[in-house]
Amino acid sequence: MNKDIKPATIAAHAAGAIDPQSGGVVPALQPSTTYLRDKGYDLVRQDNVYSRADSDNLRQAEEVLRRLENAEETFLFPSGMAAIAAVFRTLPNGATAVVQSGIYWGTSAWTREFCARREINLVEVDADDLLATCNSAKPALVFIETPSNPWLKTVDIRAIANATSATLVVDATAATPVLTRSLEFGADIVMHSATKGINGHSDVLAGVLSTNAKGAAIWEMIRDDRKMAGAILGPFEAWLLTRAMRTLPLRVERMSQNAQALAEYLLAHDAVDDVFYPGLPSHKGHEIAKKQMSGGFGSLLSVLVKGSKEDALRVVGKLQLFLRATSLGGVESLVEHRHTIEPHTGIPENLIRVSVGIEDIGDLVADWDQALT
Ligand SMILES: *Cc1c(COP(=O)(O)O)cnc(C)c1O
Repeated sequence: MNKDIKPATIAAHAAGAIDPQSGGVVPALQPSTTYLRDKGYDLVRQDNVYSRADSDNLRQAEEVLRRLENAEETFLFPSGMAAIAAVFRTLPNGATAVVQSGIYWGTSAWTREFCARREINLVEVDADDLLATCNSAKPALVFIETPSNPWLKTVDIRAIANATSATLVVDATAATPVLTRSLEFGADIVMHSATKGINGHSDVLAGVLSTNAKGAAIWEMIRDDRKMAGAILGPFEAWLLTRAMRTLPLRVERMSQNAQALAEYLLAHDAVDDVFYPGLPSHKGHEIAKKQMSGGFGSLLSVLVKGSKEDALRVVGKLQLFLRATSLGGVESLVEHRHTIEPHTGIPENLIRVSVGIEDIGDLVADWDQALT
């Protein structure tokens, strides 16, 4: 395929994946765990030995993501957390890691436990203090999340990359590779929970890492560890993911339009205290978001409704189209009262996290309209 081909085309064509054997225009699902050798004991296909390391379906999904991310190499994992763990496991005992605070709760909780067990010096800092801390703490690894979940804080990837020689890992799940290609802003490794917008249909758990520093020691450790320790995505999940990603740019475009319109509506509503969404000019990170997100600001927003925890839960309970469930980035809109899930982390009691889907925007606004009155 032509090198200048655009993301919508790469995605729609699944980076050229077809089934040469049947002539099918979509790739076949091949669940085999092991692969044949001929009579002379040569592998029938040199690149297929055993499915912990090799699978056509996995390579097809990775190739779509690699092209969308504009990366040299991409690895899929069985979950977003498995991808994050693969990065942290490369750190030697005694190393220092700077991790942004107020990010995806699973990341904060797991890195605390892991770093304590491995005697890794974990420095958690707010997005606003990252630059200063990168200078003073001399970390081996810096892990940021932009936009962050559920505060929607934006971090200037290039500014952090310029400020540190540490390996910079960016969790860009809320942006997807359609809106932000983090490697182009100086990230060493970009990570996504593909469970979210990348798959977008709430039916596959997966995580992904991509890099432009293929030969770097840390990337080679990740490659070997994934293969030998077996954190691999199965062929069926990879096949489903490849199918889902055909519409990724289209879904992200609609979700971003819907989220922008809903954020503007909510901000103007009397029963609302504040809305966190990078696409709002009132948002603190709007200027950074404009620099490093193109084509929209994503599907995730948080709203502070006026009143108490009970008021927030009443609004959440009255919503009819926004399903009450965790997660984000699916075609169906979701809401979550984060304080109920993580009451000890300082999440405001009146914060409702919203993942905006691809439904009709009039229907979505009408649902909030009835829930807020
Ligand atoms: C969901 C999520 C993760 C974890 O991904 P899983 O696929 O659930 O393991 C990591 N980071 C962010 C920002 C997420 O939203």
